Amino acid sequence: MSLANGRTYLAIPGPSVMPDAVLRAMHRASPNIYEGALTDMVAGMIPELKKVARTDGHVAIYIANGHGAWEASLSNVVAEGETVLVAATGRFGHGWAEMAAGLGIETQVIEFGTKSPLDAARIAEALAADTAHKIKAVLVNHVDTASSVRNDVASVRAALDEVGHPALLMVDCIASLGCDEYHMDAWGADVTLTGSQKGLMVPPGLSFVFFNDRAAAQRAAMKRVSRYWDWTPRADPQFFYQYFGGTAPAHHLYGLRAALDMIGEEGLEAIWARHATLARAIWAAADVWGQGGPLTMNISDPAHRSHAVTALRLGAPYGAKLREWTDTMGGLTLGIGLGMSEPGDPGGTGFFRIGHMGHINAHMVLGALGVIEAGFGSLGLPHGKGGVTAASEVIGSALAAG
Ligand SMILES: *Cc1c(COP(=O)(O)O)cnc(C)c1O
Repeated sequence: MSLANGRTYLAIPGPSVMPDAVLRAMHRASPNIYEGALTDMVAGMIPELKKVARTDGHVAIYIANGHGAWEASLSNVVAEGETVLVAATGRFGHGWAEMAAGLGIETQVIEFGTKSPLDAARIAEALAADTAHKIKAVLVNHVDTASSVRNDVASVRAALDEVGHPALLMVDCIASLGCDEYHMDAWGADVTLTGSQKGLMVPPGLSFVFFNDRAAAQRAAMKRVSRYWDWTPRADPQFFYQYFGGTAPAHHLYGLRAALDMIGEEGLEAIWARHATLARAIWAAADVWGQGGPLTMNISDPAHRSHAVTALRLGAPYGAKLREWTDTMGGLTLGIGLGMSEPGDPGGTGFFRIGHMGHINAHMVLGALGVIEAGFGSLGLPHGKGGVTAASEVIGSALAAG
């Protein structure tokens, strides 16, 4: 028997759940891409996008996934042979560094492991040692989606300022924008990137690179920038097609319009609070489960946990077994472990991740936790009883407090 039929729930850290309003907005004939409603709509979305990143800077849109945003951002401000300093707190830090290496950029990686946030003091040390100012940018993941750690971006800005180092601060917010509190300008980021398929609730295919005037000046000093990745015409187009370096991704844009309407209606502060409360509910369940079995949350300090994704350790091969069970028996797809393998577990089968980003609410999270708890029972995995009850208490008391 299976109980998976019914509406399935893709609870992975991207792509996230697409709202019906987004899907409906995309379901239409292709519009005129030369003039009219579409061109007006895009111009109107630019200030709204900047508000989501909390910046008065510029934004370039790319027809690309997050990997494209990684390459786009680097291509504009770091030349072949120049150096970037990468704070790696999980697989996604290394992924961005690999993208840089592929562009012929020297990468200096500070490894913080897969269970800890970055330590700005170590970044300050590396910057202080770079007296020749070879480092052109510091690359930080606000949230590393593999480890589910949330890093303190402002502490890296403070490190740069303390040392007096001119490198740009570039922040990957692909897993956090529209989920976790983020203030690009106030926290001193020069470049911020995100994708459409996580907090923005749109299918994968669009990405966004926000940049300030300091970053624009570094771009202007580059000897050459690949024509396609160049953010200058995209952020300040003379012709509509320049926003996208070619044909507009019309259907994604309609989806994005609907998503921005939803974000505007709920309000960014309310969205951050919703994600924070639902995350706390998940952690409460995991705490209880861990009291009677091997489950642990990958990031022990709640202050450094993402509000959009939670990485959990269950021991090989039970992460994989649980994911298979929830998918086939409960209609719930959980995320795989990424870059977390331990000796003797080359497939990373001891891990799983819960994606809780974007279009999610109390019943979805409680439902997901209920299916996970049922899976523990069905598979005979030792676990503390009452995880779902603990989660519902977090949600109940948060709502009672208003
Ligand atoms: C998802 C993600 C990426 C990669 O995005 P893709 O769309 O899969 O290319 C990069 N960084 C972070 C933090 C992410 O969460």
